[in-house]
Amino acid sequence: AKAAGRNNFQFFTADMNVRATERLLLENALRRAIATDQLSLHYQPQIDTRSGRTMGCEALVRWNDPAQGPISPARFIPVAEDSGLIIQLGDWVLREACRQQVRWSQAGLGEVCIAVNISALQFRRAEFVDSVVAILQETGASPSAIELEITESALMQPGEQLLERLHQLVGHGLSLALDDFGTGYSSLAYLKRLPIARLKVDQSFVADLPGDPEDAAVVTATLSMARDLGLEVVAEGVETQQQRAFLCERQCTLMQGYLFSRPLAADDFAGWLKVHPPA
Ligand code: C2E
Ligand code: CA
Ligand code: CA
Ligand code: CA
Repeated sequence: AKAAGRNNFQFFTADMNVRATERLLLENALRRAIATDQLSLHYQPQIDTRSGRTMGCEALVRWNDPAQGPISPARFIPVAEDSGLIIQLGDWVLREACRQQVRWSQAGLGEVCIAVNISALQFRRAEFVDSVVAILQETGASPSAIELEITESALMQPGEQLLERLHQLVGHGLSLALDDFGTGYSSLAYLKRLPIARLKVDQSFVADLPGDPEDAAVVTATLSMARDLGLEVVAEGVETQQQRAFLCERQCTLMQGYLFSRPLAADDFAGWLKVHPPA
């Protein structure tokens, strides 16, 4: 039994070594990608289905590695978080989104609101607010056109310091959205204390609508709670007319998903705006 155990152990470590090596390679490639501007942003429209107008968009980072081809953020964001690269990556994303906001505005496309994903690790740093303000000033982006998406899990039981930080961001004119809502266990009491404008219902709850009774119950309860608290709701991952109808029946009209559009390169999003002008 001992021998077998040892063999298992060796097998396991060999496997772990391969994975650790892969991770290190990915980390080094990502470091280079950030330094050499190999990253880009795609923009997914957010639609007000009542008017058909574009409410704004979510910026999603893309990495096209010359050797490996496109690498999904679901794969490299965790590596960026583990290695600390998320700070540089996050600054790059925010700066690029701000520059794009200015370019669209100068191109006469209006004040397009861009939502930017913020990792919990970025948000938890004492320097976070200063770095955001510096990027806004450097780029000349309008703070009211930048929304920061912070995940529900990053804001579980926030201490006074984190709450203060949220208020500072709002004080600078930015707006805040709670991302992946429903995946944590937020209480109503806690939500009331956060200076957020919006909830984004996690796509895992939208995927099986309208057939899945549990998901339907979660979404319905979230919508009525948000209404009571005066929060806007964006449903993400909307792919079908049936999902859209379910949400509309419950007065959730802000949506994002493949039913409307995939995330688009900046030029394609500008084309989208000409057909679906901003509200
Ligand atoms: P997320 O913030 O929940 O972003 C939504 C994800 O759902 C995006 O995946 C988007 O392309 C995808 N999506 C949009 N509509 C649909 C749909 O109708 N159906 C389905 N099945 N999926 C849809 P993406 O771009 O692969 O990003 C994955 C995750 O990586 C994001 O999830 C976010 O957590 C993270 N991420 C992406 N960009 C950034 C970034 O700039 N910074 C940080 N910190 N995280 C990012
Ligand atoms: Ca998001
Ligand atoms: Ca999300
Ligand atoms: Ca489900």
